[in-house]
Amino acid sequence: MTVTRFAPSPTGYLHVGNLRTALFNYLIARKAGGQFILRLDDTDPERSKPEFADGIRQDLEWLGLTWDREEKQSARLDRYADAADKLRAAGRFYEAWETPAELDLKRKKQLNMGHPPVYDRAALALSDAQKEALRAERGAGVWRFKLDQERIEWEDGILGPISIDAASVSDPVLIRTDGQVLYTLASVVDDTDMGITHVVRGSDHVTNTATQIQIMAALGFAPPSFAHHSLLTGPQGEGLSKRLGSLALRDLRAAGVEPMALLSHMARIGSSQPVEIVGSLDELADGFDLSQFGSAPTKYDVDDLKPLTARYLHGLPVEAVADDLAAAGVPAEKASDFWRVARENIETRADIAGWWTLFSQGAEPLVDPENRDFVAEAFALLPEPPYGPETWGEWTAAVKEATGRKGKDLFMPLRHAVTGRRRGPEMADVMPLLQTKPKL
Ligand code: GLU
Repeated sequence: MTVTRFAPSPTGYLHVGNLRTALFNYLIARKAGGQFILRLDDTDPERSKPEFADGIRQDLEWLGLTWDREEKQSARLDRYADAADKLRAAGRFYEAWETPAELDLKRKKQLNMGHPPVYDRAALALSDAQKEALRAERGAGVWRFKLDQERIEWEDGILGPISIDAASVSDPVLIRTDGQVLYTLASVVDDTDMGITHVVRGSDHVTNTATQIQIMAALGFAPPSFAHHSLLTGPQGEGLSKRLGSLALRDLRAAGVEPMALLSHMARIGSSQPVEIVGSLDELADGFDLSQFGSAPTKYDVDDLKPLTARYLHGLPVEAVADDLAAAGVPAEKASDFWRVARENIETRADIAGWWTLFSQGAEPLVDPENRDFVAEAFALLPEPPYGPETWGEWTAAVKEATGRKGKDLFMPLRHAVTGRRRGPEMADVMPLLQTKPKL
């Protein structure tokens, strides 16, 4: 069975970059009829916060990305300790005492001499007596995984064949001096224990994957399939990291972005398939194909979501907005007519209320000074509601007769005066929805 997971750290709110990872893993699981797990990577007790975990769940729920099971790393520390013992027993784990400043100095020296800044494994050469002395002087060290210095290879679901020389990678620290197990090890144990078959994550994790493949092998685990999607950039190719704060999913929600517009966009950008607005996650899953994605950074423009949201809303049947119409005060018997007339003019659901206010209470008329007398004369020729589909034609014919105006000079000032807006639906459709006679 296909099992995937989305593994955010609850140290902040989700943003569009996280969403790409969540969505891909979700779609792979759903398309295969498998399972999708939400895993909270909360091994850092200082930075992990319950409110962020709640925020992550709310954002996923808003998008309809339902998970079959939730796991959290902080509840699995025993499993990681067991794995660490196994690595020690296998001779693949060693303690090291360099301080961050010492490591920094080593890196600088290596770079100066034109060497890659890879950890020099000085700790491996320590005698037992030297280790004892360091432990007495500095306390517990970090624990590093001893990489086998060979090429690490895998067939990446997006990047294709990958081959990384382990000698170009520092032996990863898996346990900090304070005993905290780091993600690199925890994730390996989780992915294996939870039967994860496919891991999709950002291409910033490629080196992690290389080391994790070796850690898995050292623990006797079989690796899942890996795929690394490209990272998002801004519209000009600029890094998104600085703007991610403004790309939080909760802010997009507050701005009225529709989940299906966002999801349809995210499931396609960076792939060779065009963006199409679809109506459901099932439809997205059916058409999802990881092999269509490229390795080049993917341009992402938050402004694209506005027209996509509008397009999505324009295509919705009235039943899909029944709650929004009711909340805006649209009577049930007027809902169909209202939605037919108003929907093309709506950019977000929040606009619904404004159109209903206009129809039910009348607009603040928009009248250029030179048209004041004309509009006053025209309004005098308009009877009280109710109006029908013929009202606009009859009224404008009478106004034309009385004033001699025609064409744009006749229609535009009346549209502006009745609706208070420069643009909008066909006036013949607007009139029957008006509940009060327009006033100047
Ligand atoms: N917590 C990790 C992250 O957010 C998970 C990476 C992974 O999917 O393995 O980067």
